[in-house]
Order: sequence, then structure tokens, then C-alpha cells
Amino acid sequence: MTQPDRTLRWPAPTRRDFLAATGLTAAAAAAPRHAAAAQSAGFAFEITRTDDEWRAMLTQDEFRILRRGGTELPGSSELWTETRPGDYCCKGCDLLLYRGAWREPVDKGWVFFRHSEENAVLTGIDGPVAEYGMDPYTDLTMIEAHCRRCGSHLGHILLVDGIVLHCINGTSLAFTPL
Ligand SMILES: [Zn+2]
Repeated sequence: MTQPDRTLRWPAPTRRDFLAATGLTAAAAAAPRHAAAAQSAGFAFEITRTDDEWRAMLTQDEFRILRRGGTELPGSSELWTETRPGDYCCKGCDLLLYRGAWREPVDKGWVFFRHSEENAVLTGIDGPVAEYGMDPYTDLTMIEAHCRRCGSHLGHILLVDGIVLHCINGTSLAFTPL
């Protein structure tokens, strides 16, 4: 199995810093591993583009986050304080992923939802990654959220104060107010 290119993942902060700084806890790693396996085994997304095509339509930061699994700095997306009702679609393919009514007001700097639109988000297992100093025996794996249609990285599914929430990069979303 080909290992994914992680050279651009988690440049700063690292995942360890990310969790420590936010007080967030990685959700129990009981998520279906077959989702990640399906992607690496050639799962066919409805929308596929070459890296050059993605780079042509995304900013450098969007490419790093959507296509390389990066994370935006907390508070860097204007969407984290968005409170209007509306639709949140994938920046990579416009698939409707989340609705404003499902947002959870968590003061951590990212966009939190209680759940996604049905059949819109795929999960996979992310880390721990040894090259970023994570210990495979003590650091929890994380559940990664991807767009079902184009595979773009959205964020993670985490336990926040005992509630399982989708912690999403605003950079990965296009918001349309109602
Ligand atoms: Zn998408």
C-alpha cells in the first residue's frame, strides 16, 4: 500500500500542539477503518482532479488544507464566527455538507457542527504520525472528515466537552446565507 504524502501535513501547529492548545480530545478510535482503506485502495470519488487542476482552482492555503490534510490556524477563517442561517458547501465541489442550524457555538477558532448532511461526509483514520513526534502507542488516532464527492479534507470529528462534534476548517467550506 502506498503511503500518503504527509510532507505538507500539519506544518504548524502540529496535531499534538493543536490538541493541547485547544483542550480538545481525540474521539475514541472506533471509527470504521474500511473508509480509510477504501480511499487508499482506489475508492472512486465522483469528482477527481489532478493536483495541477486543484492548484489552479484553489489558493495555496486551500490546497494545503483540502488536498493535503492541513489545518488552518484557529480563528483565521471568518466563518468561525458566522451565525446566520445558511448552507455550508464543500469548497472543492460545492456538495452541501452542513447547515447553519447544526452549528455548535464552541469558542475554539474553528467551525463546529453537531452532524453533517446525510451521505455527505466520509470518515477515515488520521495519525498518529511518527514524523511529527506523535507516539503510536500513547497518542490517540483521530477521525478525519472528508467530502464524500471529491475527497477533500474538511477537518476532524472530536469529543468536545463530552459531545462528539465535527471540527471543520472554515477554509474547506463555502457559505451561502439563506
Ligand atoms: Zn467536495
